Amino acid sequence: MASAAFRLTYPLDRLKPGFHRHRFTARGVGFEAFIWRGLQPGPVLLVNGATHGDEYEGPTLLRQWAETWRPTNLRGTVILVPVLNEGAFLAGARCDPADGRNLAREFPGRANGSVTQRLAHLFDTQLLAQATHYADLHSAGHAYELLPWSGYITRPDAGDRVQRAMAACFDSFWCWAGPFLPGRTLSAAYDRGIPAIYVECQGKGGVETEDLRALERGLNALLRQVGNLPVPRAGLKLRRQRLRITKDTEEAHLQVHHPAPHAGLFVPTAMLGAWVKRGQGIGRVQRLDTTQSTIVRATSTGRVVMHRRQRSVLAGDALYTLAPV
Ligand SMILES: [Zn+2]
Repeated sequence: MASAAFRLTYPLDRLKPGFHRHRFTARGVGFEAFIWRGLQPGPVLLVNGATHGDEYEGPTLLRQWAETWRPTNLRGTVILVPVLNEGAFLAGARCDPADGRNLAREFPGRANGSVTQRLAHLFDTQLLAQATHYADLHSAGHAYELLPWSGYITRPDAGDRVQRAMAACFDSFWCWAGPFLPGRTLSAAYDRGIPAIYVECQGKGGVETEDLRALERGLNALLRQVGNLPVPRAGLKLRRQRLRITKDTEEAHLQVHHPAPHAGLFVPTAMLGAWVKRGQGIGRVQRLDTTQSTIVRATSTGRVVMHRRQRSVLAGDALYTLAPV
């Protein structure tokens, strides 16, 4: 469990109603937060982008909201952190090159650890600790492309239902829920008993307009679902979301599937969204120093929900993720 005794440097419940900006810093790491305080008490919703530095959909939407969103009927508190991992973001990389560590594997972090560990600790103790609901906006990043989904870590308690309802707000996407994996922002939220979801957008190095629209629609619904904004009298009108709940810890662990057998040029043959059978050839990796190549075969039957777009690969780079959806 996280240390509840950690001193808050910026207690949200002492903030005046209105719009605030605050930079959270400690031991050489930091991030910017935009904070809206309502006149009425209510939930504390925390949303961030760029846990990974090469994922731009979340930062784009949240930065836009910071500039333009001025609600008059807000309850509770909304905190948006467009770019959590500034070191990685400014390097245009998934991880901060200062230590090469993956922020989504370092939670709850360490006060005296490396930069990425310190950042995880700062976010966990100063913001996550104050949240009642949490959403982490991801995407496939610059090297990958995926079929957008929202998801959460399944819980044995009532929080599971809350998370399911939160994920369902992103109704342009399908939903993928799975068991606990350590080190994630969501695992830190899980340990703190905070209902939490993540969202994955297309990625491929940019921001698709349809993803931004879907995220915006989702965030608007989420604010109503958790209680920061009033629900319209007719209720929240959401499209029915396709749901996949797995008990397999490896299924939604994206970086382990179909690793490149060696370095080389990747030639995919199965496209995003395609349904493939176990054992089917779905691509190959061509060696640079010979005319040989190695066929990549599907390790299960399912739909291609993520694939690598960057054609240069190193041994072990994930090439495909399949899901039975
Ligand atoms: Zn990510």
